[in-house]
Amino acid sequence: MTVILEAQSLNTFYGHSHILFDVGFSVAQGDTVCLMGRNGAGKTTTLRSIMGLSMPRSGSVVFNGVDCTRLPSFKRARLGLGFVPEDRRILGPFTVRDNLVLGKVPGRKGRWTLETVLDQFPALKHLLDRPGGTLSGGEQQLLTIARALMGNPEVLLLDEPTEGLAPVVVSVLRDLVMSLKGAETTILLSEQNIRFAMTVSDHVVVIDKGHVVFTGSMEKFKEESAVQKKYLAV
Ligand code: ATP
Repeated sequence: MTVILEAQSLNTFYGHSHILFDVGFSVAQGDTVCLMGRNGAGKTTTLRSIMGLSMPRSGSVVFNGVDCTRLPSFKRARLGLGFVPEDRRILGPFTVRDNLVLGKVPGRKGRWTLETVLDQFPALKHLLDRPGGTLSGGEQQLLTIARALMGNPEVLLLDEPTEGLAPVVVSVLRDLVMSLKGAETTILLSEQNIRFAMTVSDHVVVIDKGHVVFTGSMEKFKEESAVQKKYLAV
């Protein structure tokens, strides 16, 4: 097992509010790891700290052996971290094509090009000339993931990808994540949809009030009904 990403003792604050308390876990290459926890537990803050969008006050983020704790997020993207935020951040007036092309990251090459991304997301093909802002919520979610893939990330960070989506779009997303796994993309996602998380993830990290309270394989997590009851809304 090769560790590709490691969060070590992250302490992150918003102003004076201490949000993450010594958050630490590692992600193995090719794995899909899911951050779980209630609303406000600190999942988004963990992903933002890893991406460099919120700077931890202490602790470190090591990606591919490189300590990137103090690097700005665009440099982390150049090293191969891709982030899909919860609020999607589509550039509304820009076309779908432009949104996709803007996802390219200088210096990063790989299997993902406009052509291969559209093969993976056929639903976007006939929307290429539409302004991104006119897409449905589900289409926008697919577009944000497609845009992140255009940067050929080695690790994809997905913040609550199923939030607010209709079941039919959730099942498209499930197929997508499964096919990315098949292609050995490493994925770290945060998710409150426990069924979705259980289907796609290999490992689980449960966060509660900014503390890691469980780390283990999905099989182990499935057996831990006490953990599920105590820390998740199940
Ligand atoms: P959710 O599912 O609601 O997104 P989460 O587990 O992702 O939850 P975070 O968004 O990381 O949780 O929030 C952790 C805590 O930090 C919450 O108490 C939240 O209110 C607080 N918080 C989040 N963003 C900010 C901010 N910009 N300023 C101040 N506090 C914030």
